[in-house]
Amino acid sequence: MSATAPFLNTAPLLIVTDVGARLVRRGLLEPADAAAGGWLRARALVFRRGPVVCEAAPAPARALTLPPVRPTFPAPMTLALHNTLTRRVEPFQPLPLPHARVTMYTCGPTVWNYAHIGNFRTFLFEDLLRRFLEYSGYQVFHIMNLTDVDDRTIKAAAAAGQRLDEYTAPFIRAFYEDRDYLRIRPAHAYPRATQSIPAMVRLVERLLERGVAYRGDDGSIYFAIAKFPGYGRLSRLDTRELKIGARVASDEYAKDDPRDFALWKKAEPIDEQVGAAWDAPFGRGRPGWHLECSAMSLEAIRPAQTLDIHAGGVDLIFPHHEDEIAQSEAATGRPFARFWVHGEFLNVRGTKMSKRFGNFLTARDLREQGVDAAALRLLFWQTHYRQPLDFSDEALDAATEGVRRLSEFRDRLSGDGRRGTGDERLAELAARFEADVRTALDDDLNAPRACAALFEFVRAGNRELDRGTGSGAAREALDRVMGVLDVLPTRRTADAELERWIEARIAARDKARKAKDFKEADRLRAELRARGVEIEDTPAGTKWRLT
Ligand SMILES: [Zn+2]
Repeated sequence: MSATAPFLNTAPLLIVTDVGARLVRRGLLEPADAAAGGWLRARALVFRRGPVVCEAAPAPARALTLPPVRPTFPAPMTLALHNTLTRRVEPFQPLPLPHARVTMYTCGPTVWNYAHIGNFRTFLFEDLLRRFLEYSGYQVFHIMNLTDVDDRTIKAAAAAGQRLDEYTAPFIRAFYEDRDYLRIRPAHAYPRATQSIPAMVRLVERLLERGVAYRGDDGSIYFAIAKFPGYGRLSRLDTRELKIGARVASDEYAKDDPRDFALWKKAEPIDEQVGAAWDAPFGRGRPGWHLECSAMSLEAIRPAQTLDIHAGGVDLIFPHHEDEIAQSEAATGRPFARFWVHGEFLNVRGTKMSKRFGNFLTARDLREQGVDAAALRLLFWQTHYRQPLDFSDEALDAATEGVRRLSEFRDRLSGDGRRGTGDERLAELAARFEADVRTALDDDLNAPRACAALFEFVRAGNRELDRGTGSGAAREALDRVMGVLDVLPTRRTADAELERWIEARIAARDKARKAKDFKEADRLRAELRARGVEIEDTPAGTKWRLT
């Protein structure tokens, strides 16, 4: 495989030469940082949208001899992902050596309450992305933060008369439980905002030193968006709309209200009351929400300063991710993330599922209702992550039926391992199925198409099995794909008592059948089914399984 310079992958819009010195003159880079980062030596800087510097080629000679992509990669990556930065589906490649892995940062939950399944739709699409990268042979380093200090957590803790850490602890535990219930692979790091304050203080200091942050007359520290020419690049804000010099202190603000935002908020009595105030050289206070993610992600990937993927819900594009880019790139002079990947909302009757609208369902609601996580996963995969998805009980019921059919098929494949003349045909179907799934997911994670291939395989595979053939290759292919989609129902297990009861019923039914008392045999089968036991009569005797 030939080595490809990473900055050539994203179709530069404009290349300007010899601009390192110009950046220093404009105050965007300190001379020392420019030298350390190779900017002063830079002959070419690649610009994407707007004037912000995205990538620097230290020197053409070195750029042409970049080290090869990690040799252990099984195959050239064929994944293409929609990048919100460019609004295009682009071929994905992680940064080459020395990073040698895919770094992925996903904005985590704000632990002021239980996360609802709209939040989990985002976490699930990120799980699919992570699993597919791993399936494709990549080593992924996944970081998900926990926002355990922000406007909402502080307000909620104060209302409950608790300290912040006391208040958030049960919601953090609940988040991990819900994650496990929904079979989301745990991230490799879960930095918590309250435990990352020193990194945040360092970042604010750096932004102050660089002159892109200032102290407002309310004592808080703000980011000056006018000092960062690329502000609005991600969300495509028209820079003329920027309200230069106007400030906003709250973590969340309207899309049409781009203003200088708070990096560090001066401690208020309510912050002190719940234990959400820290000393800093620029005054006692607490971090703004946007600052938290910049500091935690940069800290987690040190010494690198660029993430391969930053993901989240579409509602985070502005202001949260726009502000993350501004803070991070103004501090490091490097592109913050190469791919920005955003998932659409989960709607209920056309309205975004949200605590604000009171139309939300939590993961624990579903668990208490006995909903199998496989059904929810399948339901979500059946709509592309960049399309809004309307949640309804009917859709969930249909997905439940889908995972049941899949489970039956998987059991048939496991069956008795018979091998016959049709083996190759089933193995062929399996190979085509796996290739179709891979092609679908390579195409900007087209999970609906992968699911269509899955159920086509179930249909065609069942037909082959009806002819009495079996194939280990088919089962292995299905299991590999399940490593990505993970939509087989949770296995119920029978305890010893239930097992004895089942065996007794089956023995009684056999006796009834021998005596040609089919009415009694049917009654016993119905009794078994009522307790979730499916039976199948085979030449080797009656087999049972729990559904
Ligand atoms: Zn974030």
